[in-house]
Amino acid sequence: MSSYPARAVVDLAALASNVRALAAHAPTAQVMAVVKADGYGHGLLPAARAALAGGATWLGAAQADEALALRAAGIGGRVLTWLYAPGAPLRQLVEADVDVSVAAPWALDAVVAAARESGRTARVHLKVDTGLGRNGMLPSVYRDVLDAALRAQAEGAIAVVGVWSHLAFADEPQHPTVVEQAQVFADAVAHAEQRGAALEVRHLANSAATLTNPTVHYDLVRLGIAVYGLSPVPRLGGPEAFGLVPVMTLEAELATVKEVPAGFCVSYAHAYTTTEPTMLGVVPLGYADGIPRHASGALPEHPGGPIQVGGRRLAVAGRVCMDQVVVDLGPGAREVAGDRVELFGTGAEGGPTAEDWARAAGTISYEIVTRVGARVPRVYI
Ligand code: PLP
Repeated sequence: MSSYPARAVVDLAALASNVRALAAHAPTAQVMAVVKADGYGHGLLPAARAALAGGATWLGAAQADEALALRAAGIGGRVLTWLYAPGAPLRQLVEADVDVSVAAPWALDAVVAAARESGRTARVHLKVDTGLGRNGMLPSVYRDVLDAALRAQAEGAIAVVGVWSHLAFADEPQHPTVVEQAQVFADAVAHAEQRGAALEVRHLANSAATLTNPTVHYDLVRLGIAVYGLSPVPRLGGPEAFGLVPVMTLEAELATVKEVPAGFCVSYAHAYTTTEPTMLGVVPLGYADGIPRHASGALPEHPGGPIQVGGRRLAVAGRVCMDQVVVDLGPGAREVAGDRVELFGTGAEGGPTAEDWARAAGTISYEIVTRVGARVPRVYI
C-alpha cells in the first residue's frame, strides 16, 4: 500500500461497460480500444484487459514498445502499432503477432525485410493521409506503396490486411473536411480493392467520428477517449449523453489545514491574498502530477472551481506548484488534515470532471488524464 497522499482510482468495470456502450453505437464494426500513452494515463495493461473483457477485439498502441509490452504480458487480441522510426523492433513486432502500420515507402521496405528475417507473414495496414496532414502517405505515394506491398504479398512476406486514415475535424462533425477526407479514404479503399487487395479492415473513425458519423464506421472503429468515459465532443454532450462513465477519479488527502488572517498572501508570487480570516488547505498534488499550472482561479461554469472538498467546489488559490495546490476552505471551515479532496471523477452529483480542468486550463480532457504523473499511484477497482 502506497503512502502517497493521492491516487488515481481507475474503475475497470466502467471501462469495460464503456466499450460495450460504444460497440452498440457501431454495431457493424469491430472495436479497437486505443491504449497508447499508458492507456491514456489509466495503465496500459489493466486498460487493455478491461477493454478486451468489454468486447474490444483490437488494441491500438502508437509506440512499438507499448505493443510489445501488451504481448509480453500475455495479452491477446489483435494489436496494431503505428508510430515508429527507422531502427524500430519490427522483427520483434512481427514475431509477437502485432499488426503494423505502413505510413511511408521506407516503412514498407523495413517491414518486408523484418518479415523475411523472421520467416513469418507480417500483417500490414497502409496509412493514407487523407487530409489530416500528419503521419500517413499522400494518395499518390500510397498507390505506389500499395503496388509494392501487393508484390511483397504475392511472395508471402506480408499480407495487406488494412487501409486506414485519421480525421482532422472528427470533433466538428459538420466541418467540410470530414466529407472531403471520407471521400479520399473511400477512393483509396476502392483503389486497393480494384488492385486485388482482400482487405480485412478499413478504418477511419476515432471516438468522435464513431459517436457522430455512422457513415465512417467501416469495419473497425478506433476508440480512445470514449473508452475512458470522457466525451470526445463536449460541445455536443458530456459522457452521459453517450452512455459513458468516466473511468478515472483523481483524489487526495488534505496535507495541511491552517487558519490565516485577512490579507494573507498565498504561495509563489503571492498570486492570491485572503480577504478575510479563513482556513487554507494544502492539496498534495501539483503540476508534476498533471495538475495544469494554467488552471489557477475560478471556472466560468463552476465559479467555485474544480476542486471538491466536503461537498463544496473550490478554486486553486494562487499558483499551482510542483507538488501542491492551496485551496481557500473559507472562514470556520471544519476540514482537517487527512480529509478527502476530489480533483475529478465521474461528475456525479455535481462533482468535478476532467473536462472542468480542461476548460480551466484551455485544453482538452485527453491532456488532463494522460498527464496524471507516473508517481501518482493507480488504484484499480
Ligand atoms: N486513431 C489514431 C491514429 C489516434 O492517434 C488516436 C488518438 O489520438 C485514436 C485513433 C483515438 O482517438 P480518440 O481518443 O479521439 O478516440
